[in-house]
Amino acid sequence: MVVIKSNSEIEKMRRAGAITAGALKAAEEAIRPGMTTLELDGVIRRFITSHGARPSFLGYGGFPASACISVNDEVIHGIPSGRKILDGDIVSVDVGAYIDGYHGDSAKTFAVGNVDKKVLDLMKSTEESLYLAIDMVRPGTRLGDIGAAIARHNEQNGYSVVRQYVGHGVGKDLHEEPEVPNYGKEGHGLRLQAGMVIAIEPMINMGTAAIKVMPDKWTVKTRDGSPSAHFEHTVAVTAEGAVILTRI
Ligand code: MG
Ligand code: MG
Repeated sequence: MVVIKSNSEIEKMRRAGAITAGALKAAEEAIRPGMTTLELDGVIRRFITSHGARPSFLGYGGFPASACISVNDEVIHGIPSGRKILDGDIVSVDVGAYIDGYHGDSAKTFAVGNVDKKVLDLMKSTEESLYLAIDMVRPGTRLGDIGAAIARHNEQNGYSVVRQYVGHGVGKDLHEEPEVPNYGKEGHGLRLQAGMVIAIEPMINMGTAAIKVMPDKWTVKTRDGSPSAHFEHTVAVTAEGAVILTRI
């Protein structure tokens, strides 16, 4: 069932969204070559808890850290560890914060030091596709139209769309209905209504779309070893259009 939120619920979600956005900003300011992904996770955890919230991901399905941190060919769900971030890496950081009964969910891929121009282009295309999808959000838009637009933008640039993982509704639960795929058929799928809150999160690979889950049962990597980018916002559907709840 797709939950329709009242205006006062969406107001509460602004707080969760703002803390989520702040945690990503703190990660962006802290990230540097030589830092471990576990140290970066600590920055995020401290930001969230010092603002009175709880990291949504910590303990979710047994996940052992506050953020998912995925480097280069890791697509999503990377577990923070002693791995050192190197000059030239791209690092996808996915964060959730829970406060006042609601979650926020947002992700961004950061370029660390001197990153190959081809990889920067992948990041740019992925981020552009998130914002073009957000621009389509209003009552009546169908999820198939949004997914098709995300896929078209990235495929025209020569990239491929991960299909096994998708966006989702957000609210009292981190993952609610509906699923929000990054591919689809125009004119098909659920119609958005005012009061829906969705996380739109394109995961785009430079090579093929194929992925594999590592033996740690969390980390998702591209099968061909090519880099992957991930950008996500939590977005409320209102009569006036999209309101990004995880924007700084
Ligand atoms: Mg996320
Ligand atoms: Mg999400």
